[in-house]
Amino acid sequence: MKRIFLLFNVLSLVGCVEHHITEKPANNLIDHGDYAIDTFFPSQVQDERVRFLIFHYTAVDDTESLRLLTQGKVSAHYLISSNPGKFNGKPVVLQLVPESKRAWHAGVSGWAVRNNINDTSIGIEIVNDGFHEHSSRRQWIPYHKEQMILAASLARDIIARYQIKPQNVLAHSDIAPLRKTDPGPQFPWKTMAQQGVGAWPDAETVTKYLQGKHRWSSGDVMIIQQALAAYGYTIPKTGKMNSETQRVISAFQMHFRPRNITGVADMETEAIARALVEKYCAQMPLLICCENLRYHYIA
Ligand SMILES: [Zn+2]
Repeated sequence: MKRIFLLFNVLSLVGCVEHHITEKPANNLIDHGDYAIDTFFPSQVQDERVRFLIFHYTAVDDTESLRLLTQGKVSAHYLISSNPGKFNGKPVVLQLVPESKRAWHAGVSGWAVRNNINDTSIGIEIVNDGFHEHSSRRQWIPYHKEQMILAASLARDIIARYQIKPQNVLAHSDIAPLRKTDPGPQFPWKTMAQQGVGAWPDAETVTKYLQGKHRWSSGDVMIIQQALAAYGYTIPKTGKMNSETQRVISAFQMHFRPRNITGVADMETEAIARALVEKYCAQMPLLICCENLRYHYIA
């Protein structure tokens, strides 16, 4: 009986398709030479392949940036020059790779449950030297205001088209914290978030998680590791400070607490991490760590 029912359904569908092809005008049919594609029956279950937006600095000047990103072994979808040109009074961004193609900007990378972020991201490179070294001290180079205005406009457009979540707008250093420092602590993440680009914690939630303690006092390494893992970072969950943990915390601080990026596990870092998890983790049902985190200390 079941087989008869299935057969009837198949025949009905075939009949329906044939009926539709012979009776509808052909604007849903695309000729591909030896065959044709009919787009009349779109599936309800589909989404975008692009899930992440990644910001970088190039660490070299305009000429070298363009050479490396067009003739070298790396690429990005967009390049914002040090002084963007104008067209009809509007700032111009260079598109080096179509958004439908994969650019090679992320390298070995991971965020939450995903790796190889090149596969699922749009990459924006910004011409900026990164930092200059002065007697073993790093002086980070600010971005130009015009670059950030253009970056915000471009990012808002990409975010809207692919419905990218705030917590998936990231630094290269977020997805490759042991290898990368770009776009660095001078990237204005808070201002960008205020313009609809990326995540930022609520100040009152950060205060709540400070629990009356001084922001520079020692935080709990295990809680910070668990919160960062829940948020998406690849970090050991040992409860012990080691060089890997310190570098991941430093990457987190470059994004969310740029005035001190030494990687120290202080109370303010812990509070910001927990505030971000509280604000954004509920929207990440795929992230198993979020469940663990609730068990450990949020509930
Ligand atoms: Zn980069």
